[in-house]
Amino acid sequence: MKLFNSLTHDKQEFIPRTEGKVSMYTCGPTVYHYAHIGNLRSYIMEDVLEKYLRFTGLDVTRVMNITDVGHLTSDGDTGDDKMLKGARREHKTVMEIAKFYTDAFFADCKKLNIKTPDVVEPATSCIDEFIRVTASLIEKGYAYEAGGNIYFDTSKLEKYYVFGDVSEEDLEVGVREGVEEDGNKRNKADFVLWFTKSKFDDQELKWESPWGIGYPGWHIECSCISMKHLGEYLDLHCGGIDNAFPHHTNEIAQSEAYLGHEWCNYWFHVHHLNTTGGKMSKSKGEFLTVSLLEEKGYDPLVYRMFCLSSHYRRSLVFSYENLDNAAVAYKKLVSKIARINAEGEIDKKEYDRLIQCFTDAMDNDLNTAQAITVLYDVLKSEASGNTKLALIKEFDKVLSIGLIEAAAKLGAESDGSEDIPAEIAQLIEQRKAARKAKDFALADSIRDKISELGYIVEETRQGTKVTKKA
Ligand code: AMP
Ligand code: ZN
Repeated sequence: MKLFNSLTHDKQEFIPRTEGKVSMYTCGPTVYHYAHIGNLRSYIMEDVLEKYLRFTGLDVTRVMNITDVGHLTSDGDTGDDKMLKGARREHKTVMEIAKFYTDAFFADCKKLNIKTPDVVEPATSCIDEFIRVTASLIEKGYAYEAGGNIYFDTSKLEKYYVFGDVSEEDLEVGVREGVEEDGNKRNKADFVLWFTKSKFDDQELKWESPWGIGYPGWHIECSCISMKHLGEYLDLHCGGIDNAFPHHTNEIAQSEAYLGHEWCNYWFHVHHLNTTGGKMSKSKGEFLTVSLLEEKGYDPLVYRMFCLSSHYRRSLVFSYENLDNAAVAYKKLVSKIARINAEGEIDKKEYDRLIQCFTDAMDNDLNTAQAITVLYDVLKSEASGNTKLALIKEFDKVLSIGLIEAAAKLGAESDGSEDIPAEIAQLIEQRKAARKAKDFALADSIRDKISELGYIVEETRQGTKVTKKA
């Protein structure tokens, strides 16, 4: 399989260090609020990557952290803590907030058919590891104490800006968002490994350390949790593109300084989901969560299909119109699958040909959009019904959009909606969403529009029925 590696800026053949086995690490969520659907785009694409590696026969061990301490709003000693902010907002303790939003995160993942990684480790359960690695970095001359905090000294490295997309000048105050002056630092890029003194509100959670009572920085947790479970060498590290700098850059700096050798070979970064207004945010504009989509009448798997329809290295714009299009496509796909008769022998030649098309797409830097096209090719194929169903089942082990299950549910009540033009199908989805949101005036006006276009929409016990006017 060829994967784009952010380290080399190149599509490279993915070759794990140990034949047949892959060690994979994913940056987990900061559990101070619900995940937005942008965060979940990253987890969906990482899930597809993991499942595809398994599909090709590799034995994957995947580890993910839960950031329940140490993630400041900016990187130096310059921002208040997201967890503390969450606790204040909801009048709860930090640990209560962490537990609630960790559960909420995995509930969202389940709805999106995202598999839980083999190991999930909260940062608060690895404090001893962080202290041990920080102490070793001081001993090796890579870290120093200043103003009560321990900093990593980036000037000790031959090359710090490993991804090549940021430079020293970008760290001038006012150039990059979140860069503020921290007088303790020897170099602009230095970052905190352990805090005992913050200029800002203090943490609720603190631990004893050789440098006083305090708490860890954010970056050290991923290095330590990865090394704890996956050892000194990592094959594949994943995260959203915003994590490349400073988070992943700092992870590499401290891990390699600590280990004394190269650490991770492949870096997989998922580009952002944006809104039509720009960057997705938990605090500005509509807070887009899986629950919100459900409230508006969307199946979470439609959102998964929406994500798979575009390449992970392109930024993707979310709008309800785009999601409606995905909903229509999903519905059509499912109703076509529901109409396949489970009959005939498996046509081995056609089966192998289409599996090959699927793997060609996925081997090409995880081209999920192309893989979905192959799914349509299966439907168009002359092969027996059983061949088609077997192929769809195989593809869905990786895509995980619940095609066979949704088709079984639709079953015999298939309503002929494949003959309905896309425009009408889109209006029907909008009407459904309006009904679900109890906006009946809007639902009625959409029905009138559908009627003007020559279709009748009725609610029956089997669901929404649409017929062309005679
Ligand atoms: P956080 O909970 O903020 O630590 O982020 C969790 C994951 O979501 C990280 O891998 C981020 O890089 C990723 N992420 C953040 N914003 C977006 C976005 N708009 N689109 C895709 N991924 C994102
Ligand atoms: Zn991380």
